[in-house]
Amino acid sequence: MSVLSESISLHKTVKKYYLSLDKGAECQVTYIWIDETGENLRCKTRTLNKEPTGIRDIPEWSTCWVDGNLIEVTLVPVRMFRDPFTLDPNKLVLCEVLDSNCVPIGSNQRSQCAKVMEEVKDFQPWFGMEQEYTLFSLDGRPFGWPPQGCPFTGAHCAVGIDKVYGRDICICHYKACLYAGVKICGTNAESSQLAVGDRHSFWGESKWEFQVGLCEGIEMGDHLWMARYILHRVCEDFGVVASLDAKPIKGNIGTSGCHTNFSTKEMRSEGGLQFIEEAIRRLSKRHSQHLRVYDPHDGANNMSSFHDFSTATAHRNVSVHIPGHVCRMGCGYLEDRCPAANCNPYNVMRALVETCLLETAGEDDNERETMAS
Ligand code: ADP
Ligand code: MN
Ligand code: MN
Ligand code: MN
Repeated sequence: MSVLSESISLHKTVKKYYLSLDKGAECQVTYIWIDETGENLRCKTRTLNKEPTGIRDIPEWSTCWVDGNLIEVTLVPVRMFRDPFTLDPNKLVLCEVLDSNCVPIGSNQRSQCAKVMEEVKDFQPWFGMEQEYTLFSLDGRPFGWPPQGCPFTGAHCAVGIDKVYGRDICICHYKACLYAGVKICGTNAESSQLAVGDRHSFWGESKWEFQVGLCEGIEMGDHLWMARYILHRVCEDFGVVASLDAKPIKGNIGTSGCHTNFSTKEMRSEGGLQFIEEAIRRLSKRHSQHLRVYDPHDGANNMSSFHDFSTATAHRNVSVHIPGHVCRMGCGYLEDRCPAANCNPYNVMRALVETCLLETAGEDDNERETMAS
């Protein structure tokens, strides 16, 4: 056992004692927000004198923000979860960030998304997102890899210590999300595709996936961000780092994505396939704008199948996919496979409903001012 992992286990055992101390009626609330980068999360904790019964019981707070200058911003609580790290009655609360004039700050894409979701609420838009992530050791190597590189061949949903590394993270994150009230609906081991000519092999990469859904409207982004927060916190406890990079490992190894599954009431009802096909037709017309929204680092998630729009049923090497069971049922949902692992779900969801549901986003492939970027 390395010095590092030893100190982590000692630390956690001692921590248990302090966590067991009675703290009276006091409630600790951890405020969580997306920072200036639009990708990283921050948090800080305060004491409330009693347990909040809902989001309205949690006061606004403030923090500093580095946006060229150092300014003060307001943290506005928007969704409350149970705290799986310090347990009931403590809370985790996701916040929006507003500037001193109460205007959403630049990287706060949630408020715009919430407006669009309100506009389309009669469609009852449902989402499910598949978050892929890769584990790294503190020395920067993929977790479990020796210095000479990938030690084994992996596989999607692989089982066995010679094929997957870090299942504890996946299991503990799943449990912590369920405790918190995050709508996590599944997990699996992932692998990365290594393409050489026509041959594809799969590399074990300490890569995992969790799925969040079904969520209606804005709830999707909130639950995915909270699931990301919980992932980073679980990884702190285990002494590893979870990367949501779209291209976490250099070289000819595949990318990490955040497939986004989407449906409306019509798509889910009998005969819904025609509405799914219409949505895909609309997506095909605005593919390049979607790619800009889906991949904040401009093409890091650059699998060739993503650049040119393609679609298929029960064949996955495409941009938008109709799952086989959806085709057989004649209704259900579509799967957009293009969003990168580090996408902002608020922007992805907004782009999907603007293109698929709003009248103004029809035929042409011209830039649309209002489209999230
Ligand atoms: P895959 O086979 O692509 O790996 P997963 O099982 O990982 O699929 O994820 C499927 C996702 O689809 C889940 O997040 C789930 O919530 C979502 N989903 C299922 N039904 C619907 C629906 N009707 N509308 C939107 N999303 C859905
Ligand atoms: Mn999946
Ligand atoms: Mn996957
Ligand atoms: Mn998928």
